[in-house]
Parts: sequence; C-alpha cells; structure tokens
Amino acid sequence: MTIFGKKQVVKEKIAEAARRIKESACTLAFTGAGISVESGIPPFRGKHGLWNKYDPRVLELDYFLDHGEECWYYIREIFYDFFGKAQPNPAHLALARLEKAGLLACIVTQNIDNLHQRAGSQTVFEFHGNSSRLVCLVCQASFPVEKVDLQKIPPRCPHDHSILKPDFIFFGEGIPPDAYHQAFEHAARCEVCLIVGSTGEVVPASYVPVTAKQNGAFVIEINPEASKFTHSVTDLHLKGKAGEVMQALEREIF
Ligand code: NAD
Repeated sequence: MTIFGKKQVVKEKIAEAARRIKESACTLAFTGAGISVESGIPPFRGKHGLWNKYDPRVLELDYFLDHGEECWYYIREIFYDFFGKAQPNPAHLALARLEKAGLLACIVTQNIDNLHQRAGSQTVFEFHGNSSRLVCLVCQASFPVEKVDLQKIPPRCPHDHSILKPDFIFFGEGIPPDAYHQAFEHAARCEVCLIVGSTGEVVPASYVPVTAKQNGAFVIEINPEASKFTHSVTDLHLKGKAGEVMQALEREIF
C-alpha cells in the first residue's frame, strides 16, 4: 500500500472511532500502563519494562511483611521518587475533556499513578488501587502520601506503629470491591469500550473489555502494538501512541 493509502486508512479509522463515540449513549475507557508511557512512566512488561530492572517480589504481600525496609527502599524509588514526578499527558487530558463533554461515562484504570484524576477526570474506577495513599494494614487508617515522611522507611502508622503499605494491590491481593463492581456494571451496559495501552495480560482486569464485547459493545483499541485484545475483542485498532491518537480523535470529535 502507498504512503497515501496508509494515511487514508488511518484517517478513515479515526473518523469511524469518532463517529462511534459520538453516537454512543455510554462509553467506557479501559486504560493500562501504556497511557502513562508518554508521561515518562514505563510499563511493567516489555523491553523497557520495570520488571527488567526491579524484582517483582517487592510487591508480594508476604515478602513485604517480612522485609518491610528492603521493599520500601525500592517502592519509594519506583512509585514515589519516579512516578511522583510524572505529569498527565495529552491522552489523559483528552479523556478528561471527553467526560466533561458528556461523551465518556467512566474510566476503568489498571494504573495506580493518579494521573487520570490529576488530568481532571471525575469518574475513575481504580481497579488496582492508587499509590497516592498509604494504608495501615492493622487499623485500616489511610494517609495521603504527602503527609507521610518517606525519608524514614518503612513508614509506620502513627496510631499503632504498624507498617504502612501503598494503597494499591500487591500480587495475590483482591481487587477493591467497589471498583470491581462498578467496572463490570458499566462494562455490561456500555455501547463503546475504548481500550488504551494495555497488554490484556492481567486478570481479572482484562475481563472488563471482554464483558463489554460480550454485551454488544463496539471495542476500539489504541496501542502501538498488538495486544491480547487485538485479535479477540477489538473491532477497530488505532495503531499508535496514546497521546497522538487521542489528540487526532479529539480533533475529529469536536
Ligand atoms: P503492561 O505493562 O502489561 O503493557 C503496556 C501496554 O502499553 C503494552 O501493550 C504496550 O504495547 C502499550 N504501550 C506502550 N507504549 C504506549 C503508548 N505510548 N501508548 C499506548 N500504548 C502503549 O500494562 P497493563 O496491561 O496495564 O498491565 C500492567 C499492570 O501494571 C497493571 O496491573 C498496572 O496496575 C500496572 N502498572 C501501572 C503503571 C502505572 O500506574 N502507570 C505502570 C506500570 C505498571
């Protein structure tokens, strides 16, 4: 196909995605680590993934409870020194504007970086929790991270001196019940499901787009690579980076 031909196909795909979103009475966005890559946060998997540099054991609950100080040393580096500097990118901002315009019902995110909320999105179901809070595993008190001194690790609860854990789920922990129910309730009734930057390898999160598809939703996927969704549930693959594609989509919608 000629370059012109390819450009034409991309334009047509963007136009179809925009039309589907405008006509949809309920659109759900399902986001993964890929949407935050242009904010400077690497995904977990793949060539530049975090697990090539760090041992995922630091996010196993049993290991964390026995090796609090060691785990917190890495957790602080990954999720607070590094994630903390990231800013929302054009893809986060575009989703927030779609919601404001009444064209997006909710975001179900696997991310824990708080960037959707910082971009202005209101209805965000955090499937895996959020790193901006710390929680006491004994008394369940929750603390905004900026109120905790992370120079002293492991941070401890001021009430009972127990170790504080980031309020995102560690390997083997359950999904926060409210986020789980809201995500599947919306998935069952959405007309369009927009997947942005997810491999689809993490369960049960990956069942959200599958549930949407099984209930008749049209599935649009934005990802520079093929994912587990691409050849199973995706109806329209917009191949490219989240920020660039979302900006093109926004230009077509508004
Ligand atoms: P993943 O790490 O398994 O995969 C990332 C996906 O993003 C890949 O399919 C990749 O092709 C795609 N991608 C890369 N660059 C992109 C770009 N610029 N635009 C669009 N897509 C791009 O991610 P996952 O499926 O979300 O699962 C990973 C798990 O890791 C989740 O449970 C999540 O909680 C966690 N995680 C979160 C963050 C974060 O909060 N930002 C970062 C890393 C991992």
